[in-house]
Amino acid sequence: MDPLFIPTILLMYVLPLVINLYIIKRTSGSLIAWGLVAFLFPIVSTIVCYFVSRVELKYRHVVTVDKYLTDYPDVASGHGISCIKCGSLHIQSWGISGGDDKKKIHSCNSCGDTLYKSGF
Ligand SMILES: [Zn+2]
Repeated sequence: MDPLFIPTILLMYVLPLVINLYIIKRTSGSLIAWGLVAFLFPIVSTIVCYFVSRVELKYRHVVTVDKYLTDYPDVASGHGISCIKCGSLHIQSWGISGGDDKKKIHSCNSCGDTLYKSGF
């Protein structure tokens, strides 16, 4: 199953329902408030899904660390993993949505080449 399936379902269907029920309760059944949420929520959630999936899709083609090591067995040494392009051992990693994100992209600190991903 696609990792974005459940967040998409929650964002597109469950959250608008909960917000609409809350608004109906708070506004004593105002159809204008309900209509605004019903009209705007799909637009806003589509935009949010677009940007979230854009980040995910951007790194979907990057190989995993296991595949990187299988494809280039010479890059692994007792000192760590090196860049296939320039041979540098200075590999930086960063989470795709922040420092705490387990999904990391590893790139060469010397030549800037994107090497592999981990935690996906
Ligand atoms: Zn490099």
